[in-house]
Amino acid sequence: MAKGIKPKPPKPKKCKCCPEKFIPRNSLQTVCSPKCAIQLANQITERKQKRQAKEERAAWNQRKADAKPLSHWTKLAQQAFNEFIRTRDADDCCISCGRMHQGQWHAGHFRTVKASPETRFDEDGCHKQCMPCNHHLSGNIPGYKPNLIAKIGREAFDRLMGPHEQKKWTREELQELAAHYRQKTRELNKQREAA
Ligand SMILES: [Zn+2]
Ligand SMILES: [Zn+2]
Repeated sequence: MAKGIKPKPPKPKKCKCCPEKFIPRNSLQTVCSPKCAIQLANQITERKQKRQAKEERAAWNQRKADAKPLSHWTKLAQQAFNEFIRTRDADDCCISCGRMHQGQWHAGHFRTVKASPETRFDEDGCHKQCMPCNHHLSGNIPGYKPNLIAKIGREAFDRLMGPHEQKKWTREELQELAAHYRQKTRELNKQREAA
C-alpha cells in the first residue's frame, strides 16, 4: 500500500525577537507576531545606524591622525618610552645624585635627545632622574656618568656612546614604539602588583 504524501506539520520555531516559540505559517516567517516583526525591523535599523556612526567616527579619527605631523607621533612614543623608564626604575634613586625624593621624577637621557636623537629610545641611555637634576642641572652629567657605568656596565656604556646610525622613524614605527612601551609598562605594573 502506497503511503500518501502528507505535508509535514511545521515545527515550532523560536522567535527572533522574543523568547516565544511559534508555529510558522511558512519557512520565511522568523518572528511570532507583527509586533515582534516591527521590533526586529527597528533593531536592525538601529544596529545599522550604530555601525555607520562607528565607521564615520573611525574615518574621522583616521583623517585627524593623517593630518598630525610626525613630531606628534614622536612625542607620543617618547612619552610612552619615558613612562616605561620611570616604571622600570621605580625602586631606584636618582641616577645622577643618588637621592630618593618626594618630588617629581623624570626620565633623563644621558645623551640628550637634541644632541643624539638616534639614542632617544635607547633603554641603556635613559634612567630615572630627579627633577632638579634633570631640569636645573641639565641632567647632572658629572654625577650621571659613574652611576650609569656602574648600572649598565662598561661595554653597554661604550656602545651607547659609540656611533649610531642616523634614524628617521616613520609614523608607523613611532606608533609601534608607543604601543610596545605602553605594553611593557603595563606588564611591569602587573608583575609588581602580583609580587
Ligand atoms: Zn516574538
Ligand atoms: Zn638627582
